[in-house]
Amino acid sequence: MKMEELGFGYNLVRRNYCKHLKIKEASHKEVYIMKWQEYEKAVGELYKQMEEIGDLKTNITIPDRVTGHPRQVDVWWEIIGKGHTIGILVDAKLRKSKIDVKDIEEVLSLAKAVGANKSIIVTSHGWTMPAQKRAQFESMDIRLFTLDEALELVVEDYWKLCPICEDDCIILNIDGFFEHEGMVFWYLGGRCRKCKSAIAWCQDCGWKETLKIGEVQNCECEHEWGNDIEGLWLKFRGSEHKLYL
Ligand SMILES: [Zn+2]
Ligand SMILES: [Zn+2]
Repeated sequence: MKMEELGFGYNLVRRNYCKHLKIKEASHKEVYIMKWQEYEKAVGELYKQMEEIGDLKTNITIPDRVTGHPRQVDVWWEIIGKGHTIGILVDAKLRKSKIDVKDIEEVLSLAKAVGANKSIIVTSHGWTMPAQKRAQFESMDIRLFTLDEALELVVEDYWKLCPICEDDCIILNIDGFFEHEGMVFWYLGGRCRKCKSAIAWCQDCGWKETLKIGEVQNCECEHEWGNDIEGLWLKFRGSEHKLYL
């Protein structure tokens, strides 16, 4: 079953890969918030990997200079040189469409409140021309970081050399969820481009195995996973129905 058939916001939930991401009760809002946090985490990771100088902290709070209230900051990057400290604020914006002037102003005000010397917005779907002009005027940088890029960064083994043929890659691009007795069940998998061996990864129990063509195995929650010529399939516990993923 593909997610489009379930009528969820496809772009937002298309690739919720993380194994720690378990959603038991589905609602559009919850899925949206989860995704948001994942994106923020990915942006933090991106800057951690890029960082060459300075000190970088992710997902912290900094007291508002005026009110003293804690303000949430996605990434805080501090560079110290010749006795001067420069604070850079990085704000992650996962959006379905382009960010606009209002978003720029919101981040500028946060940057001012926490005493940042520079601010950067990292966003998933681009920005409008007025937003770009506003940002340029304030010496703010805007960077594009797509959902796919974000996921490749936070998901372990997104690209994995096939352990069976050792000749090509298994890309974990089979993903989705369905509802079963009020619970949401998440799965993740991929097949080798060459020998068609598959990785099956149950997001509920964390079980992850490589299945050759014709191989069938049970995960810890007793769902049956198999791989045949037609593809990777799942037989939900207690069900006789083979579901091709
Ligand atoms: Zn292979
Ligand atoms: Zn399982």
